[in-house]
Amino acid sequence: MVKAVVGANWGDEGKGKITDMLAKEADIIVRFQGGANAGHTIVNDYGKFALHTLPSGVFYKHTTSVIGNGVALNIPVLIDEMKSITDRDVPMPKILVSDRAQIVMPYHILFDQYEEERLGGKSFGSTKSGIAPFYSDKYAKTGFQVSELFDEELLKEKVVRVCESKNVLLEHLYHKPLIDPDELLATLQEYKKMIEPFVCDVSSFLGRAIKEKKTILLEGQLGTLKDPDHGIYPMVTSSSTLAAYGAIGAGIPPYEIKQIVTVCKAYSSAVGAGAFVSEIFGEEADELRRRGGDGGEFGATTGRPRRMGWFDCVASKYGCRLQGTTDVAFTVLDVLGYLDEIPVCVGYEVDGEVTTEFPVTAKLKKAKPVLEILPGWKTDIRGIKKYEDLPANCRKYIEFIEEEIGYPITMISNGPGRNDIIYRDRD
Ligand code: GDP
Repeated sequence: MVKAVVGANWGDEGKGKITDMLAKEADIIVRFQGGANAGHTIVNDYGKFALHTLPSGVFYKHTTSVIGNGVALNIPVLIDEMKSITDRDVPMPKILVSDRAQIVMPYHILFDQYEEERLGGKSFGSTKSGIAPFYSDKYAKTGFQVSELFDEELLKEKVVRVCESKNVLLEHLYHKPLIDPDELLATLQEYKKMIEPFVCDVSSFLGRAIKEKKTILLEGQLGTLKDPDHGIYPMVTSSSTLAAYGAIGAGIPPYEIKQIVTVCKAYSSAVGAGAFVSEIFGEEADELRRRGGDGGEFGATTGRPRRMGWFDCVASKYGCRLQGTTDVAFTVLDVLGYLDEIPVCVGYEVDGEVTTEFPVTAKLKKAKPVLEILPGWKTDIRGIKKYEDLPANCRKYIEFIEEEIGYPITMISNGPGRNDIIYRDRD
């Protein structure tokens, strides 16, 4: 049985916590896209961790953690991350890395920085982890696959060829120091030693696991609105954030994905630039940011303060639809307990007309939120285990949103911990 855990919105919906929780019943957890540009925050018996590359199942002894071919693999970051958890007494996890994954090169990170500098105020708000230059090279067919590290001849020849074209850009577009092919080759030989113990034919491993009826979790990064095709292009990430891409980025048949858990946060937050219709500002935003998540809404990778907003039914309905949602996990609901009234965005007004369909970027820029105000519940709901025990106004909020987005909310997260979850039977 293959399940996917993905985000409906701009990311930071709490996927890490939901994956960590579902990983208890899983055998294998797979990262299938993205790289070290975003992070998951996980709170468990070992403490609080921010993971960037490792799948959120690494804290269980019974699971195998897989880096699929769709991931932007930053080898030193991965190795450091393994060390950072084992240094804190987490047992060394079982990790497999696809021989078809491609490698984030040191120059990808530099190009990311140089391009942001060059664009100045028109930049995309990149985390400068090299993700956009990495995926550009992958699709331009000048990337390096893990398997290529093991072919010395090919590697030498390719390093020289790639340096030639990169150095033209470095010299003439960015006016920065050039790459020395010998140095780059030595770095890649180091990378080979670091990654060798983990390299595996992942799709064949997963194929066998599916036959053996193992439970596999596909862990998405970011959310629908950051998808390069269906998101708020160009303020998107460079690999698909959709569950469907899980099949490609892990190397399994699409029809094997039986459950798609789409994570929606009870309010909105976003990082980076781009239209954010239900955004709030000033003291109202500061308070939600301060109280949000587990210790405030600040980026797990960058520490940047996140932009804040009310729950957006238009964006979330669209986000859930594109993911192919079977279950919604509704997270961070406990945070809203301080509000007397809670606005919810139920429509977008574009050119004088109200729509509930999420528009393309050019129209999105003109959209104004249509808000409906729901009553707050003014209590702390942490520790509640049963749906019926939630305050009536809290259930009203959940059921209102469920109706608006049109997908069943089967899990409600009311705290950052593994056990802070309320299951709701919707059959
Ligand atoms: P991800 O990238 O989707 O995993 O999202 P983040 O790592 O940004 O997670 C959001 C933050 O919310 C993290 O600090 C989590 O520990 C925290 N979190 C997750 N679920 C809940 C919840 O139900 N309540 C509270 N208060 N915090 C939560």
